[in-house]
Amino acid sequence: MSQLEEVEGVVLSVRKHRERDYLVKLFTGQYGKLMFFVRGTKNPNFKLKSAIQPFTRATYIADIRSEGLSFIRDSKNVQPYSSIQTDIFKNAYSTYICQLADAAMDDRKVDVNLFHQLISGLEAIETDRDPEIIMAIFEIRFLAYFGVMPELRGCVRCGLTEGPFDYSSKFHGLLCPQHFHEDERRFHASPRAIHFIRLFSVVTFDKINTISLKKETKEDIRRVIDQLYDEMVGLNLKSKRFINNMHQWENMLKREDD
Ligand SMILES: [Zn+2]
Repeated sequence: MSQLEEVEGVVLSVRKHRERDYLVKLFTGQYGKLMFFVRGTKNPNFKLKSAIQPFTRATYIADIRSEGLSFIRDSKNVQPYSSIQTDIFKNAYSTYICQLADAAMDDRKVDVNLFHQLISGLEAIETDRDPEIIMAIFEIRFLAYFGVMPELRGCVRCGLTEGPFDYSSKFHGLLCPQHFHEDERRFHASPRAIHFIRLFSVVTFDKINTISLKKETKEDIRRVIDQLYDEMVGLNLKSKRFINNMHQWENMLKREDD
């Protein structure tokens, strides 16, 4: 016997299945990440249609199975993030964040804290907070989920917690200037970039209103995070390549304006 229950969820991805049906991956508060089967109808605007769009949050009336696919039967309180759905830039960042969450999380692993963080992050992008900062915060947080969180609290050699610092792959964490000589191949990152990366590892999304960064600082942060991901995570997500290309177009458009 199946039993219907209400679950809070946000859509991570949607894939068409055969002609009319859908496979929808939700991140739910109660059950973690789960794949659902949604039966479509001849009517392309069937009633569940809006609830299973990417970047939508809702209460789903679902039949949760302990293995295999679960089923969405109905929905209520559907809240689309409409600005993310329609703005190509916001969409690109949010797609990457959701794909990263998908890659970082195991199925059916309950993580209410991350569920709320993901919703807060999407809401922040929806309401025009800087998506590059939100993306960087998630990338730093997800390092822990990939099991590779470096020591960001202070120098790995002496425990000093006041910067400036640089990052060392050899020691999997920060070095203070006293200990720079122990790793010649440290990142040689800007101290500002390291400062913000440390901040991103602890900041909550309600505090990000107060963070605004210059373009050069964001580029410095980006270099460090990309290097951390290349060395330790090694994902090759299409959505990340899209963001990289997007920056190239932006630069090209700017050059034409000059
Ligand atoms: Zn030190």
